[in-house]
Amino acid sequence: MQIEKEMDVVVSEAEWEVMRVVWANREVTSRDVINVLHRKMDWKESTIKTLMGRLVDKGALNTKRKGRAFVYSAIISEENTVKHYSSALLERVCDQKNGLVVQHLVKDAILSQSDIETLIAQLEEKMKDAPETVPCNCVPGQCDCHLIADVDELDW
Ligand SMILES: [Zn+2]
Repeated sequence: MQIEKEMDVVVSEAEWEVMRVVWANREVTSRDVINVLHRKMDWKESTIKTLMGRLVDKGALNTKRKGRAFVYSAIISEENTVKHYSSALLERVCDQKNGLVVQHLVKDAILSQSDIETLIAQLEEKMKDAPETVPCNCVPGQCDCHLIADVDELDW
């Protein structure tokens, strides 16, 4: 249930910067976040406070009073959010192009020896029941497997 709820939370690029501070430090005040992001992003205090308020409204952050300050903690985990966005990236293209997306990621990623060993093991596991070719899963007209010209001829 918790995971399903996390999936509904869409985090913008700017909000992601805030989430990283919260994920890293577990409990932070808005002052902590301002200290980190003022330097990195050159954002105004008011911008950062607005972002944090939005994250609370979305259900990404929890807030509670502790003495005179408000303390923020994450409701959504970094691991699940990263998983969600990685899957969302693959869903934006035809299943047939998933391989290309992964190839781009592997090419650009900074990987350790052990990361590479894990990847090789995952690929060897996948190889066992990988199809010869991946079938297209697209809506006709959104993929070059079924061009717009073909749409009228299809039986809806
Ligand atoms: Zn397709």
